[in-house]
Amino acid sequence: MTNNLFVYNTLTRKKERFEPINPPFVGLYACGPTVYGDAHLGHARQAITFDVLYRYLQHLDYRVRYVRNITDVGHLEDDSDDGEDKILKKARLESLEPMEVVQHYMNRYHQNMESLNVLPPSIEPRASGHIIEQQELIMKIMKAGYAYEVNGSVYFDVIAYNNNHPYGQLSGRKIEDLLSNTRTLDGQSEKKNGLDFALWKKAGPSHIMRWPSKWSDGYPGWHLECSAMSTKYLGMQFDIHGGGMDLLFPHHECEIAQNVAGYGQPSVRYWIHNNMITINGQKMGRSLGNFITLDQLFEGNHKILERAYGPMVIRFFILQAHYRSTLDFSNEAMQASEKGLMRLMNSIAKLKSIQPSNSSSIDVDALAKRCQKAMEDDMNTAKLLGHLLSGITQINNLAEGRETISEEGLEKLITLYHSWVFDVLGLELPSASGKANEITGKLIEIILQLRSDAKSSRNFETADRIRNELTNLGITVKDRKDGADWEIN
Ligand code: ZN
Repeated sequence: MTNNLFVYNTLTRKKERFEPINPPFVGLYACGPTVYGDAHLGHARQAITFDVLYRYLQHLDYRVRYVRNITDVGHLEDDSDDGEDKILKKARLESLEPMEVVQHYMNRYHQNMESLNVLPPSIEPRASGHIIEQQELIMKIMKAGYAYEVNGSVYFDVIAYNNNHPYGQLSGRKIEDLLSNTRTLDGQSEKKNGLDFALWKKAGPSHIMRWPSKWSDGYPGWHLECSAMSTKYLGMQFDIHGGGMDLLFPHHECEIAQNVAGYGQPSVRYWIHNNMITINGQKMGRSLGNFITLDQLFEGNHKILERAYGPMVIRFFILQAHYRSTLDFSNEAMQASEKGLMRLMNSIAKLKSIQPSNSSSIDVDALAKRCQKAMEDDMNTAKLLGHLLSGITQINNLAEGRETISEEGLEKLITLYHSWVFDVLGLELPSASGKANEITGKLIEIILQLRSDAKSSRNFETADRIRNELTNLGITVKDRKDGADWEIN
């Protein structure tokens, strides 16, 4: 099988020709979500980046096994050694079983992904279902001399590892710099060195998510699950491992160290990382108040949002940037994306009305070549969309009889738009839901204004009736001094 696809490999820092280990099969692994909170724009960008890669490889006739994990064993805040398990915290706050929290957010994640037209992966393994595999890998790493046990916990020995294998290659970090930037251990720590990371943690008395092991009742370290599950399903050597740039260090760096230490080889041929999303130029963070979940975007329910944006507008917005560029969210950018998406979809609809003639005045092959080249150059969806949008002028001219196209040419043009737009980029005709949500919000505002008018004219009976009817619909109204807030339950 031949292709001209070049991908940027984070490990070598250059674009390399994509050559699968065992064509026509391709193994693709992307780190999946942690399931203790709602998915946000960052999740969408990562999922859509690897969804397009998955679709594109299939478009090139590869047989792709796409594995995307679910992190559901309840790790600590920021992968630290102390603190509370994030799933447990949520479970306590909401009086749920930890696995109910996991299921709840996993279901919501799947709903969000379906809305964004992200295809389900071939295998979606859960960390909690692979404890034995993770324990086996720990034993291999210990046997090789790169891990040690302290009080029932097991840590990876980064210094011992680095003596034989360079640590920090993926992220381009030097061990000396890492060491000087690491907090000196305060004597309380069980670790030999601040860079060491947990492979197994002994569970504290209040820790609910725990499994038995030869070291202690405890739970695996975060980095371990991806090493164990990727190789289990894709083999000791596989083609592509991906994730967001925020996972590059320490998560993926530690994965490489674990694989080399335990299996004697780095397992991944191409490391691919997508860049982050900023909000109005700022990093996204809960503390900054600019943390927008996908549901909030779909409903227009966040103070930053001027209105709701449908899932396809979000998908288009993400695709009109190259995955390695930063991408800044703003209402203006979303509205521009909405216009671009509508133009594209309208012209695809127009293709049906074009009548073929005996001759062609337009060159479909040239457009096809430009589109293909854009994707072969490290999946440049931004350029691809640019070419597809530039073809709209020709489609308009054809529809209005200013240019001509042969029957064969027209067929090619239709296939070109359908295969790139629907099959590879995964765009769909936008559903009415984004618009419907926006209209619902405006209708509620109008109704509340009528209620407020009724109150002003001392018509309390009508005001109460409106409030009760809204409550029956699951809309909570909270009165303020200067109006009312509302919320859909
Ligand atoms: Zn991972």
